[in-house]
Amino acid sequence: MKRHAFTAAAFSSALLGAAMISSPAVAQERFITIGTGGQTGVYYVVGQSVCRLINRGSDEHNIRCNAPSTGGSVANVNGIRAGELDMGVVQSDVQYQAYNGTGNFEDNAYDDLRAVFKIHGEPLTVVARTDSGIEHFSDFPGKRVNIGNPGSGQRNTMEVVMNAMGWTEDTFSLASQLDAAEQASALADNNIDAMVYVVGHPNGSIQEATTTVDARLIPVTGPEIDGLVEEYPYYAKAVIPGGMYRGNGEDVETFGVAATFVTSADTDPDIVYEAVKAVFENFDRFKRLHPAFENLNEEEMISQGLSAPLHEGAKRYYVERGWIEE
Ligand code: GLU
Repeated sequence: MKRHAFTAAAFSSALLGAAMISSPAVAQERFITIGTGGQTGVYYVVGQSVCRLINRGSDEHNIRCNAPSTGGSVANVNGIRAGELDMGVVQSDVQYQAYNGTGNFEDNAYDDLRAVFKIHGEPLTVVARTDSGIEHFSDFPGKRVNIGNPGSGQRNTMEVVMNAMGWTEDTFSLASQLDAAEQASALADNNIDAMVYVVGHPNGSIQEATTTVDARLIPVTGPEIDGLVEEYPYYAKAVIPGGMYRGNGEDVETFGVAATFVTSADTDPDIVYEAVKAVFENFDRFKRLHPAFENLNEEEMISQGLSAPLHEGAKRYYVERGWIEE
């Protein structure tokens, strides 16, 4: 018996040894998670696209990427800070506020936030039911408005705008807090008069809203908006081109931000390097994955809309390509 037990132990430790020798690749496999937004937005496509390109190279770098849907920009920053997400997509205003400790991040600056690249533009997009009587953003008082879920970028930006307009939640007959993916059906079901979404175009959510009910994209202009654009470097005037959505043939003036890709200073530089490389080495393929990516160009992506310092893994790749100086 004793002999047997010894043999079994020796056998299993030999097996263990063999397993350890033959599987260094398995031991090193690293899983990364990218924070996105609602499934009918563009962040979700960004995350899925970046992951798809990263995962094509998994045999070489052993990184496996996934990109679940999340509450949006602010939730992504908080998730990265908590170590639950490795990277994420966030609005440029949220990136600025988080890094500099302003706005909703007052007294709570996130010094270790790092920029990777800028992506598409995101106009503040208001869609109102045609029968709501809303023709301009200033018609909001007394209406049922979805101001967005806490954690979303639109909620964060909407709070800034409401402040500038002198509005509170009581200004509206209803200030709902639905997730991005829920608002189009709420509009169609006549549970709200207007939805607010800071998002790239075209996108599935606005498409859904404008095809299921008669709804219009609403201008967001006026002295208060001019003031915001003047005061904050990350806001700019924007136009949503006409002809993208049913019943909306005309250009609509508003203002907006940019979507950006961020991570933590603690994220392994090799991982960020591989992510950036996967995108820029397959850039034409990436740009074809969503119409909002069509006009992206490398130079703007690495130089605009970024207020946190570049992550060192991203920087290494950009220097290697000769796009920036060391
Ligand atoms: N800008 C939105 C946010 O930060 C998300 C837009 C999208 O998912 O494309 O929550």
